[in-house]
Amino acid sequence: MKKAGIRIEDLHLSFGDTTVLAGIDMEIYPGEFFAFLGPSGSGKSTLLRAIAGFGPRPKGRILIDGKDIADLPPWKRNVGMVFQSYALWPHMTVRQNVAFGLEERRMPRAQIGPKVEAALDLVGLLHLAERMPSQLSGGQQQRVALARTVAIEPQVLLLDEPLSNLDAALRVQMRRELLSLQRKLGLTTIFVTHDQEEANTTSDRMAVLDGGVIQQIGTPQELYDTPVNGFVAGFLGTAN
Ligand code: ADP
Ligand code: MG
Repeated sequence: MKKAGIRIEDLHLSFGDTTVLAGIDMEIYPGEFFAFLGPSGSGKSTLLRAIAGFGPRPKGRILIDGKDIADLPPWKRNVGMVFQSYALWPHMTVRQNVAFGLEERRMPRAQIGPKVEAALDLVGLLHLAERMPSQLSGGQQQRVALARTVAIEPQVLLLDEPLSNLDAALRVQMRRELLSLQRKLGLTTIFVTHDQEEANTTSDRMAVLDGGVIQQIGTPQELYDTPVNGFVAGFLGTAN
């Protein structure tokens, strides 16, 4: 599949009197692993949800491959999102969880089986296909959530703090797995985190977000070498 670029133009979003996104303008390149780094409450999840089509409609434009998606429902946007809480269906097996999104999209049954198996194989969990989520470790559950999302073959992968519920050692391992999966699929990926090391070690480029405003955008090296303000310097230096 052709790699998708994303352009965000003058994006604003408020909840009542609270401005959460205060004019986001930026571009994410086709095939890029892009990280949004920012403290809790900076608007990271709201921005990701706006791209996915969840929550209130923001002002401004979101274009994927030049096409404005703001008025499309989530399932027509060609984006797949993985959440911090894996949100697997507890009453379904691993296989059924991964198949669910394809059934929802009314894919013919004969095609679903092979797609589910390919997705589970990709994350190394084919042998656990008949297990229930409760019989899996946290890392395995997160791999199922990933498989479920890549099975729908999105153009864009959105990851909202997908590793933050895992213990430290597993987080480092999953970070590598995530990156290798992304490289293999060449999937334009937006990764949200409050962990500067996680952003630094995974991303091609990153943006530091604070108060719904992008403070700085560039390669991890550029941000570390030449932070534009005290917030960026402090956040990269002290946050973990
Ligand atoms: P982050 O993911 O960076 O921690 P969020 O995007 O979740 O930040 O939230 C940014 C701000 O928007 C917070 O102040 C939060 O309280 C507020 N917010 C998020 N969702 C809602 C909502 N549905 N209703 C009201 N306020 C919200
Ligand atoms: Mg969040």
